Parts: sequence; C-alpha cells; structure tokens
Amino acid sequence: MKTLDNLLFDNRFARLGDAFSTEVLPEPIEAPRLVVASTAAMALLDLNPAEAQRPEFTELFAGHRLWEQAEPRAMVYSGHQFGGYTPRLGDGRGLLLGEVINEAGEYWDLHLKGAGLTPYSRMGDGRAVLRSSIREFLASEHLYALGIPTSRALCVTASDTPVWREKQERAAMLLRLAPSHIRFGHFEYFYYSRQHEQLRTLGEHVLACHFPHCLEQEDPWLALLREVIERTATMIAYWQAYGFCHGVMNTDNMSILGITFDYGPYAFLDDFDARHICNHSDDSGRYSFSNQVPIAHWNLAALAQTLTPFVALEKLREALELFLPLYQAHYLDLMRRRLGFVCADDGDEALIQSLLQLMQQGTSTDYTRFFRQLGEQAPTEALQVIRNDFVDLAGFDAWGRQYLMRCEREGGGQDERRTRMHAVNPLYILRNYLAQQAIEAAEQGDYEPVRELHAVLSRPFDKQPGMQRYAERPPEWGKHLAISCSS
Ligand code: AMP
Ligand code: MG
Repeated sequence: MKTLDNLLFDNRFARLGDAFSTEVLPEPIEAPRLVVASTAAMALLDLNPAEAQRPEFTELFAGHRLWEQAEPRAMVYSGHQFGGYTPRLGDGRGLLLGEVINEAGEYWDLHLKGAGLTPYSRMGDGRAVLRSSIREFLASEHLYALGIPTSRALCVTASDTPVWREKQERAAMLLRLAPSHIRFGHFEYFYYSRQHEQLRTLGEHVLACHFPHCLEQEDPWLALLREVIERTATMIAYWQAYGFCHGVMNTDNMSILGITFDYGPYAFLDDFDARHICNHSDDSGRYSFSNQVPIAHWNLAALAQTLTPFVALEKLREALELFLPLYQAHYLDLMRRRLGFVCADDGDEALIQSLLQLMQQGTSTDYTRFFRQLGEQAPTEALQVIRNDFVDLAGFDAWGRQYLMRCEREGGGQDERRTRMHAVNPLYILRNYLAQQAIEAAEQGDYEPVRELHAVLSRPFDKQPGMQRYAERPPEWGKHLAISCSS
C-alpha cells in the first residue's frame, strides 16, 4: 500500500514534447471539499483508502498542491463534432498531471478535469461544474462495476468558486484515471495539420506504450487499427446490451483504447427505445441509442483516414469491414447471457430482435428490470409475472413460447440459472433521476446521497440490504429529464 507521498511517476506523454501538449499549472478552486472518492480507483494506484481522509488528498485534487514529479500539461487534439471537422480542440479545462506506475507495473494517467484555462480553452472558462463532475464520477465507477470498458474516476472535489452556465453554479474538479488519454482526435489533429512526422511519433508511442503486441505483427500500423476496431466493437456491444447511451460520440470523445470516455449527457435507457436521444442538444438524433453502432464505425473510418500515410487504402478498408461482424458477435454473446443461455443456438438473434420489438411497442417494466425479473424465478413463472407489463400480450405470449423451448434446449436447474443470470443482469443501474437527486443534495452541501449511490452502484449485481429504493422503477418525471451538453 502506498501513500500520496510515495507515488512513482513516469511521464511518457509529457516527454513527447511541445508539439503534443503544453505545460500549464492547475488553477485551484476556492475552499475545496472532498465530495466522494472511489476506494476501488485508489487501489489502482495502490493507495491506502485512509489517504482520502488526509487534507493533502483534497488539496492535490483541487489544484492547491502538486507532486514534485508531476508535469501538468494540456494535450492538443482536434475532432469531428456532430459530423463536422473542428481543426483544433485540445484539453480546454483538463490537465494530464502525469503518469503513475503501480506495483503491478501498470501505468495510469492522472487527469484533473476542471483545472482552469489552457491554450485550448477557446470561449470556455476552463472549469467543470459540480453536477457534471458527479455524473462522470458515478458513471465511470458504475460502468466499471458492470464490466464495461471505461476510464475511471478517483474523486470529485467541490468549491465556492462561482461559474456561469445557464445559471450560476459552483466549480468542481474530477480526477480521472485511464491508461491513456489519447483520442481518435489526436491522430486527426496531426493528420489534417499535415504534421506527419508527429503523427508517426504519436502512433509509435501508442504502439510501444499500449499495444506492444502489435509491433510483432507484419504491419504494426494496420495491427493498431485492427486492435482499436476490435476494442471499440466490444465497448459498443456492451453499451447496446446494457442500454447505455453516450450522447456525444464526437471523435475527440473516442478513446484510442476503446474505453468509454468523456461522459457528458449520457443515460441508461429506462424504457427500451432504440431511437432514444439522451443529449438535449442533439436535434437530429445523430447520437441516438441505435445510431451508436454506425457512428462508431464512422468514427473508426475517420481514424483509419489518418493512417493513410502509413497503410494502403485497401488494407484499411478491409480492416474496417471487421467492425460490424465483431460487434454483432459480441452483442449476441452478451444478450444470450442476459437471457440466461450459455450455449449458442441459431435462433438466438431472431429471439433477441423480436423481444426488442415487443419492448419498443411498449411495456411498463423497464429494460434493466426485465432481465433481472426474468432470472428471478423459473422461466414459466417469470414470464407469467412479466407479461402483464407488455402492451402486445399476444405477441409476448408467442415470444414466451419460443423462449421456453429455448430454455428447455439449454437445460439446467433454476438455482444455477438465477445465479448465472443475476451475475450479468444488474439489480441497480445509474438512472438519470437517481443521479439528479444525489446532485441536488450535493449542491446543498450534503454529500451523503452521492456517496451512498456510488456505493450501491459499485456492486450493481448484489442485492444490498436497505437499498431497495435504488432498484425501483423510475418515476414518470425521472424518465424525461433533459440533460444538456453544458457542463
Ligand atoms: P466536451 O463536449 O466536454 O467533450 O468538450 C469539447 C471541447 O471543449 C474539449 O476540447 C473541451 O476541453 C472543451 N471544453 C468544454 N468545456 C469547456 C470549458 N468550460 N472551458 C474550456 N474548454 C471547454
Ligand atoms: Mg470531450
């Protein structure tokens, strides 16, 4: 176990130099308070959980103090935002403080979000508000607990520093952890600004630090793209299987590691609606729930474009064709398990599609609760309970007959089935209204609800005594919260 004082830094990205990032010191926030810390994320740095109680912890993560070995820098990148290219973005309000090596030899980027103005702030104030910091914290640690690839969150600090959004709010900071903060947009920046030497350096850095096994391939650049395609396909399969809507899939929000990144107006589906748009500012529905699959493919094509100086076009095109089949195979596998099946069956895809169609037509159960209830009792009894929630009863009964036959082919006892299904079907999910209630309390200075929600969502599959209210159906108002991009 380590303390805050003996973390080991090795700042590999900073060493790439000024073409890649700019040295900037964090601007502290006034009168910082620790809102919440994740002991699971602290463990990634081998930090003793008790370290969160030290005043130095809050000081470090509110910009008041800095490790001697830290080298805070704002990264430069660009990206396609809602389909249009923005030539220069970069860390407008976050700083890469440095890279920490843990006892297992893993590297973790320490990124302080909300750390003040940088050369990339454009019209922004360099700050993050409390509500968006709490939302990113909760989601990062919850997606991790669900088994979904994601960046992590160490803590949130709140302050008295006023910031102006639609109304006056308070500045906060989030400490984000990830093995890398490199985005598709990093590659696009060097490609479109015709800095191909720097582009090569960036690619070689990614290969050496994150995908060393690709260096053994005949064409490491092509292997790099394939790796990103595979990881992104896996991540998107999880999003679709668990009803997660990211909301702002701009290429600058896509991690080169294929992890869920830069949380904004995200949402988990309450009712199943393939057309759901969680971002209030996304008028055309470019990033609607079902569009996440083709958009991920589009974003990968944008990344592939930046590799044209190194790989033949034909090879890049071939690699991109891997995305959809990889996605479909992962998705099918996840959904099969959510339905309680271990073995594969030819009819599974049709069974899943017809279920989603029935859900789309209307049900008063919800997407998350459906799967949990399905495993709670033996199939016949479970279907009997759930059926009353569906609008198309005849359609559901027909589906139920197919499902029962499928369960018979699968075999096995109910106890084992329940254990297996409950291990992949969460009882608790991060619903927008739950986050909203915890945020409202935090804005009044009461951090207990955020901490409790975080604790519950860190073990989403385990029934926790006294926490039933977190597993309930959402209230009607809770399904229609408008979450904007402003954060
Ligand atoms: P996002 O929508 O959070 O992914 O941000 C898009 C771009 O705007 C990134 O380059 C951010 O760093 C930048 N940005 C967002 N909010 C602010 C802010 N309050 N101040 C400065 N830059 C910001
Ligand atoms: Mg972003």
